[in-house]
Amino acid sequence: MKKKPLVVANWKMNPATFREAKKLFDATKRAAEKVRGISVVVAPPAIFLRGLSGAYKGKRVAFAAQDVSADEGGAHTGELSAAQIKDARAKYIIVGHSERRASGESDADVRRKTRAVLDAKLTPIICVGERERGASGEHFDVVRRQLQAAFADVASGEATRVVVAYEPIWAIGKEETMPPRAMHEMAIFIRKTLVATHGESAMSLSVIYGGAATEENAGAMLSYGDVTGLLVGHVSIDAQRFAALLREAGNI
Ligand code: PEP
Repeated sequence: MKKKPLVVANWKMNPATFREAKKLFDATKRAAEKVRGISVVVAPPAIFLRGLSGAYKGKRVAFAAQDVSADEGGAHTGELSAAQIKDARAKYIIVGHSERRASGESDADVRRKTRAVLDAKLTPIICVGERERGASGEHFDVVRRQLQAAFADVASGEATRVVVAYEPIWAIGKEETMPPRAMHEMAIFIRKTLVATHGESAMSLSVIYGGAATEENAGAMLSYGDVTGLLVGHVSIDAQRFAALLREAGNI
């Protein structure tokens, strides 16, 4: 049976004020309430997380943070722990986003952060993806290396608690996404890699896709086999486009 699609709205460093965030969240919530059969997660800037989650009494939308510290607490100026994020009512944390990796986050950091999120009993959404694609298939090696690092401290039975987001960096922020067939091929590769290291529990882990997912291509991307959700960047901060994307995702 096909899994309920998981659609994650990564607002990144938008919008500028809490007032605008509230407006965007209200529109997102209304759109999510109209669509059945999909799980919707909103990842606002951390400073807006508690204000939005505290005022939300519904069940259709869950919350995520966009990053986390690998440490539990102490002298780490500017950082947020998994426990603090959980206390702000988030259920998911994005780990290893390419924009964090571009600011210096290493595979070793992703490994520690993944562990911290699981220890807090939250769900990590681990982002993997190549910077570019060549003809000789190095992108598979890049993704395998990122997966093996991120899952190094994840026990076999725990793999099912993790979401993997395949995000080819070259597609992020664009309007045209990658061919669904190539996405599908990578999703199968991801699952095979994790089954090899983590056994059967990796069979039920969710693989989602991010990188120029729009209201135009969401249906096509989600009807392709092994991909059970989308991580959505720029379209998620346009309330109308995101509502249309959710309708598409709900129609597959
Ligand atoms: C992202 O950065 O996670 C992302 C998917 O961005 P966009 O949808 O804008 O490509």
